[in-house]
Amino acid sequence: MTEVIAPSGISVCKRCFGRCFAKMGYGVSNEERGIRYLPVYSQTLADHNISIVDDSKCDICGGIFLHLQELANLALEASRDFQYSTFLVGSSPPEDALKKEKNLQSVFGETGESLRKEFNREVGKIIWAISKKETDFTDPDITFHYDLQYLQVTMKIRSIFVYGVYRKYVRGIPQTRWIHSDGNGTSVEQIIGEILKTETSCDNYFLHGAGREDVDVRMLGNGREFIIEASNPRKREISLQYLMHKVNESGSVEIADLKVAQKSMVSALKASEYDKSYRAEIASENVLDAAKLETAVNFLSGKDIYQRTPLRVSTRRSDLVRKKHIREIRVENVSGNVAFLVLRAQSGTYIKEFIHGDEGRTNPSLAEVYGSPLTVKSLDVIWIHR
Ligand SMILES: [Zn+2]
Repeated sequence: MTEVIAPSGISVCKRCFGRCFAKMGYGVSNEERGIRYLPVYSQTLADHNISIVDDSKCDICGGIFLHLQELANLALEASRDFQYSTFLVGSSPPEDALKKEKNLQSVFGETGESLRKEFNREVGKIIWAISKKETDFTDPDITFHYDLQYLQVTMKIRSIFVYGVYRKYVRGIPQTRWIHSDGNGTSVEQIIGEILKTETSCDNYFLHGAGREDVDVRMLGNGREFIIEASNPRKREISLQYLMHKVNESGSVEIADLKVAQKSMVSALKASEYDKSYRAEIASENVLDAAKLETAVNFLSGKDIYQRTPLRVSTRRSDLVRKKHIREIRVENVSGNVAFLVLRAQSGTYIKEFIHGDEGRTNPSLAEVYGSPLTVKSLDVIWIHR
């Protein structure tokens, strides 16, 4: 690459020259600074072969500042259907312009600001004046991003996050969809998400759960924490009360404790590890021996167990042995070859495998200690100890 400045020189407008002194003095525009510093640096400009030209001929900005109103209109037009109260402007000037600007500013020291910064501020002022929305540098509802080479604007819409807890009263529905564009079938995610979609006019939604129960397991008691995300929402002012009522009408899933959440809460929620209590309906081929079952249960209460990743999930999770703690088990009821157990276990324990043993992959298991095969007929999460 040849040096941009001498010997070929560079042509810049007064504004781009003035921007070299952006940190000098307040209440003046960069163009005014340019006019002010021209006589001061006339010799330096000549020495570096820098000529001052009209905006449209400027090697750095190319006259982009003549089109601020049109460019602001692009953003206002694109965001017309979106409810927002804060915004931020970002931009990507062409690489070449940035390089030239760096070279130019290096001649005059460290007193300049970038083309990007001035552009963002100036176009932002126009958007602010027309839309009456405020600038937010940390978490704006809409971020407008300008491509200054192709003069295009793209928008990033901040998702809406709603925290709550859900209870799932029926078996057979998964927590989330398999395919996230699939609107068919039913899942906890869809039952909540479809109503959220109607309320926010969003493009899609995603349920982030604090763990998940199996499809055939009910989620009762105090419910499971979740955050549901509405992506590209057109409406931001929603009634959580209404959302809750509509979801609860489904009869299969009930939600409560709704509040507006932040994106940053999602990872903490997903990483949470709480003990859980379950009620399990177990069965044996023969009539259960209540005394023997009681002994087995007492033996396993407070014990560590070792679980190799169950075969049924081994495609999703790496195959390793996990140590889990069974806090407590008690027999609620024994009748013929069926019994109900209530147990509390460490987060991440595979309860079904703990009961039937998963062909020796869980060790010890209730079936092994009891001394004959046991199956799980039904399972409910009855409390999450958070
Ligand atoms: Zn310029």
